Amino acid sequence: MADCIFCRIARHEIPATVVREDEDCIAFRDLLPRAPVHVLIIPKRHIASVNELTGADETVVGHLVAAARAVAESEGVAESGYRLVLNAGPDAGQSVDHLHLHLLGGRELGWPPG
Ligand code: AMP
Repeated sequence: MADCIFCRIARHEIPATVVREDEDCIAFRDLLPRAPVHVLIIPKRHIASVNELTGADETVVGHLVAAARAVAESEGVAESGYRLVLNAGPDAGQSVDHLHLHLLGGRELGWPPG
């Protein structure tokens, strides 16, 4: 989508601190980090939210999780622990309508969240 902020990051039209990229996804540091390590992993193709996923997109989510695991390794939190979060809709506080997987780590994370 032309004016989607995460689509624009995926196209390198606006700056972001990219930590990993491949043909299908890109991972970059969150602008307002909630933990010492806070990276967003997104598909390059625009998908508005989990609610928009179809059966044909099952591999997209698997690819995001695999990329997140690699980022956890490269960020040095694979052993200490990390959390992967997909916010969907208003009650979860989704603020950007482009599917994104949060990777949070580098500190002890409270449970339950929110
Ligand atoms: P959510 O609330 O789950 O929709 O998460 C959206 C996240 O995107 C928030 O944590 C924001 O801080 C982050 N964010 C918004 N704009 C940018 C940007 N231009 N670069 C990096 N992170 C962003």
